[in-house]
Amino acid sequence: MNLYEYQGKALFRKYGIPVPDGFVVFDPEEIKTVDGDVVLKAQVLTGGRGKSGGVKFASNLDEARKIAREILNITIKGHKVHAILVEKKLSIEKEYYLSLLIDRSSRSPMVMCSPEGGVEIESVPDEKIFKYRIDPDIGMQPFIARMLAEKMGFKGEISKQFSDILMNLYRLMREYDAELVEINPLVLSDGKLIAADSKVIIDTDALYRHPDIEENKEEKTPLEREASMAGYAFIEMDGDVGVIANGAGLTMATLDVLLLYGLKPRNFLDLGGTDSVEITKNAFKYVLKAEPRAILVNIFGGVTKCDTVAKGIIAAKEEFNIQIPVVVRLSGVHEDEGREMLRQKGIHAYPDMRTAIQTLKNIMEGKE
Ligand code: GDP
Ligand code: MN
Repeated sequence: MNLYEYQGKALFRKYGIPVPDGFVVFDPEEIKTVDGDVVLKAQVLTGGRGKSGGVKFASNLDEARKIAREILNITIKGHKVHAILVEKKLSIEKEYYLSLLIDRSSRSPMVMCSPEGGVEIESVPDEKIFKYRIDPDIGMQPFIARMLAEKMGFKGEISKQFSDILMNLYRLMREYDAELVEINPLVLSDGKLIAADSKVIIDTDALYRHPDIEENKEEKTPLEREASMAGYAFIEMDGDVGVIANGAGLTMATLDVLLLYGLKPRNFLDLGGTDSVEITKNAFKYVLKAEPRAILVNIFGGVTKCDTVAKGIIAAKEEFNIQIPVVVRLSGVHEDEGREMLRQKGIHAYPDMRTAIQTLKNIMEGKE
């Protein structure tokens, strides 16, 4: 479970990791005084708020309330803003990146840090990211923290601060069963390192061990909630290709291959193992609500029979009057019948993923 920035920062405070002074409000009127410059930050369970107008500055009470009102009205990647964190504005000399995560391939905690922070870590070149695997039996040791501080270019007092933050962050991660604790940016402000942002993910299965952590109901977008209520594993994304696939693994692979072809998925939807025309048809309802430019269906038939899926797709096309391109990859049980049914209705259907995605790309680029 993802924590809000203010929840993560409360944990940071508890573990002696420096954070700016601040408070959370749910209504602009709850801001009573503004002492000097402040930063107002939308509390949503998604990143990139800076770029979406979710992080703004104010220098007096009226301005702060006005901006709070504006921020409460925006939607960030489908997330409505219900709360705002008001903090003392930092004067930032430099932004760094620091995180601890569970590295699945080595099955151990791992430190990731970079002198280039404040941007998405995915956009930082590999050679500027330092990674260090922590042996879980030995845990984080001061010499590891010092070595990483040196790599980060910290000296003297700042190096000591960085080591302390890292040691404390590790304790937090282990004691709260976190899968990720991220500080982006960790900033140098007035000669001190301070966590200007927080991202904490707690292992959902371990939540019962942490009764002090409030459960977040807002993790899902309204559409995600609607789809999950109807029984679909559905996640909204930034792109424009709607996706319906079966099995979490194949669905993930579908997203990867789309990206490989330069296309961006609008959603993740795992149909699961089903042999129902109705369930297949209704999956389109939620994907269509996300307003994609095209839809890719990727089914490997087993329990889910290809002819059943084909019937569902045809039913959806008629019932929902789908006008955007739909391309289907169907293989597995009853694949020939399934593809034939689709082709008779003029729907592109192929046995392999590459042809399906290449065709979709051609259509979207107006080449077909
Ligand atoms: P995110 O975009 O959702 O990750 O939100 P962040 O909390 O990381 O804020 C985005 C950016 O806003 C940071 O990288 C900083 O450049 C800037 N920012 C945030 N807080 C402050 C602050 O107190 N002072 C200044 N000058 N910039 C800030
Ligand atoms: Mn950030």
